[in-house]
Amino acid sequence: MTARRAALAAAAVLGIALVLVIAVRTPWHVLPEPPGGYSPVDPTAGLPAGQVARAEDFASALRPASLISLVVGLAVSAVLGLTPLGARLVTAVARPVGGGRIAQLVLGVAALVVLGRLVTLPIAAYAEVVRHRYGLSTRSWWLWLRDLSVSTAISAAVTCLLLGSVLWLVRRAPRTWWAWAAGAAAGFVVVASFLYPLVIEPAFNRFESLPAGQLRTDLLALADESGVPVQDVLVSDASRRTTALNAYVSGFGSTRRIVVYDTVLGRLPDEEIESIVAHELGHVVHGDVLTGTLTGALGAAAATALLGWLLSWTPLLRRAGVDAPGDPRVVPLALFLIAAGGLVGTPVQNLVSREVEARADLHALDLTGVPDAFVSMQRRLATTNLSDPDPPAAWQWFFGTHPTAAQRVAFAEDWRRVAVG
Ligand SMILES: [Zn+2]
Repeated sequence: MTARRAALAAAAVLGIALVLVIAVRTPWHVLPEPPGGYSPVDPTAGLPAGQVARAEDFASALRPASLISLVVGLAVSAVLGLTPLGARLVTAVARPVGGGRIAQLVLGVAALVVLGRLVTLPIAAYAEVVRHRYGLSTRSWWLWLRDLSVSTAISAAVTCLLLGSVLWLVRRAPRTWWAWAAGAAAGFVVVASFLYPLVIEPAFNRFESLPAGQLRTDLLALADESGVPVQDVLVSDASRRTTALNAYVSGFGSTRRIVVYDTVLGRLPDEEIESIVAHELGHVVHGDVLTGTLTGALGAAAATALLGWLLSWTPLLRRAGVDAPGDPRVVPLALFLIAAGGLVGTPVQNLVSREVEARADLHALDLTGVPDAFVSMQRRLATTNLSDPDPPAAWQWFFGTHPTAAQRVAFAEDWRRVAVG
């Protein structure tokens, strides 16, 4: 078997393993059908007409921008990766400092990442204007620019590290590099998931422990009842950027923490905050972060093996103006293939995510036993976050990470009917 065939075979085996893991580990049916069938989904989620209209207006101002940004980003990446233009750009930016391999890699990656950000910058600015207009964003333009610069710098540094490692492996092991790279990619996903709350989150927000009081006591009691070790409940200074309400859980092992946006405190009744945190505890109970990390690692390994197969395909390399996969000028092509792969993976990831979120909702309802607080919390989240309670089905299928507000309200109704039973 040639090295190329082996890469394709490995990609196929890992891909099948990924599909099996997803099929087996995803909670496809979290709630038994209530007597008399599932509740009909009210597309307004019980919200007043004015609020539904406002959320729909907001969505119709942002959705085209998101789509255009996606298409423009991918198109620019395709032009750079599938023609010799990208390779020429890499050569050109490295020339002033001697044009060595390291210079081509570092400056090439930086130029491509920055260029990718710049071409979508007007759309990003427009989207921020819309969020300001609707009162959702509280960011100053200075902070917006800082966020954009920090995330661009992080993205360039990580890309440089990853592609640099790949290029190094290609030179060390010209026939089997993709296998080493696949293992390294899987390891990277695990390490990144562990480090994210320690390194990336503090780059954007500050965190403080939720002060002692009734709420903290109640939240820790909920964690206790769920049987999960929670060291701390943290509050993030999200209000510097947004009025949106949220909470999440990230990391695992010693870095696991529950984070509540400071926007939630003082604006929501304790019962509703408890409902949100109970949902987050559902993720911990079911090990969703760990499962997501391991599935992601498997996906990264499969994608890297596939990348190994594609990058050793001579006609594709020639199209990109590159002679060999170890040439740093292969970076634009690699970035395009990664972007295209990410796009294909998005609806699959979200399909799984929606089911996992429904299971966390079930945990919230089971743990608190207060569906009314769950429903009013869902309505409040939809209103404040301006989320369309019933987005177009295709949009929800592709981009929806959670069930829609309308579906979540109907879910609570089903839960009540099953409980009464
Ligand atoms: Zn969740």
